[in-house]
Amino acid sequence: MRVAIETYGCTMNQADSDIIRGILAKEFEISDVSDAEVVVINSCSVIDFTERKIIRRIKELKASGKKVVLAGCMARTSKEALELSDAAVSPDNLEKIAEAVKNSKKIVHIGWKNLDKAEMHEVKCRLKENAIAIVSISEGCVGECSYCITRFARGPLRSFSIDNILKEVKGALDMGYKEIQLTSQDTGAYGIDKGYQMLPKLLKYISEIPGNFRVRVGMMNPHHAKSMLEELIEAYESEKIYKFIHLPVQSGDNDVLKHMRRNYSVEDFIDVVRAFREAFDDLTLSTDVIVGYPTENEESFMKTYELMKRVKPDIVNITRFSPRPGTPAANLKDIPGWKKKIWSRKLTELCRNIGAENNSKFVGKKSLVLLTEYGKNSTVLARTNSYKAVITKGKLGEFKVVKIKSFTYAYLVADDAYESL
Ligand code: SF4
Repeated sequence: MRVAIETYGCTMNQADSDIIRGILAKEFEISDVSDAEVVVINSCSVIDFTERKIIRRIKELKASGKKVVLAGCMARTSKEALELSDAAVSPDNLEKIAEAVKNSKKIVHIGWKNLDKAEMHEVKCRLKENAIAIVSISEGCVGECSYCITRFARGPLRSFSIDNILKEVKGALDMGYKEIQLTSQDTGAYGIDKGYQMLPKLLKYISEIPGNFRVRVGMMNPHHAKSMLEELIEAYESEKIYKFIHLPVQSGDNDVLKHMRRNYSVEDFIDVVRAFREAFDDLTLSTDVIVGYPTENEESFMKTYELMKRVKPDIVNITRFSPRPGTPAANLKDIPGWKKKIWSRKLTELCRNIGAENNSKFVGKKSLVLLTEYGKNSTVLARTNSYKAVITKGKLGEFKVVKIKSFTYAYLVADDAYESL
């Protein structure tokens, strides 16, 4: 039987697809969707737009005669998708994917299983299209954010064992991967379910692994970063750890943050950013902002706007609020779409200007970069030691020094990027 996998959503879902692919490849032929009899949809339910798109996709595949197996967050959060699908596995039942495919079973049980996905590293089958290996370090979180549906899909925090994570990292490096992306719903919470925050320790152990490679630390919540700040910055001093933090702030207004149940203040966010910038002058800061949260008004939106102007993040992921079923925020009166559109456009414009201004400072400078992904027109996407995106040329997995010739708000361009080979 030929099986295809379609992956939606976050870095953790991509890591789950590596496990799905590895398990299924033992019994089935992994193929493209066009040739497949069965399609596994590894779904995402974070916003309504994506959920609607996936529902349409399931109907489309069914109409073309294919069998659909639902995996990912919607297996737990979308009754409609579950009913439409022929089979399903929830994220904490991933190891049962072959059984679901073979017997058209829907394996989505009540409660949460303690599945250590790092333990499954040997079964993982990663795509060889880049030099990046995604390594999940935990599943679920300790948060209760009012707008978030992910916690209903991923459950309470279950941290994977350090030993298994280290084995997975070593295994990926032995296979030739050069960039390790550590991911979870909140890397800052790693270990809390085992008694203490273990991220700094994990980073130190990974940094002790011999070899020339880089580690990207995935999204962490500001209050978790703040409560281990000194240790975390010390662990980041290793050259192997990209000087990059992804710190979702979501709003620049403390009342809105309180209503979102985010457990930190704008000042906490600023404290973490300041401490990292004092330690690493070329830090790359990525953050997330939700525009149009129901209790937001013009004044609180402007506080977010002013916060971006003040903090000058390099990357800002802007999401328009959409009420998610079963979340407390879904019971609130939603803000008109046209207003969200105006706010998100205004903020996008500002953040792109900030991104361009930040990147303009690299022109003429030389930088050591790691080549990680193929780009367009036979270029390659590389990363500086602060995870800045650089367009260049060369071999995947190679480290090289480039001179920055130009920039956009999103990436830098090396002077050899468009040299003919
Ligand atoms: S920390 Fe908050 S936003 Fe993140 S997964 Fe948990 S509940 Fe959702």
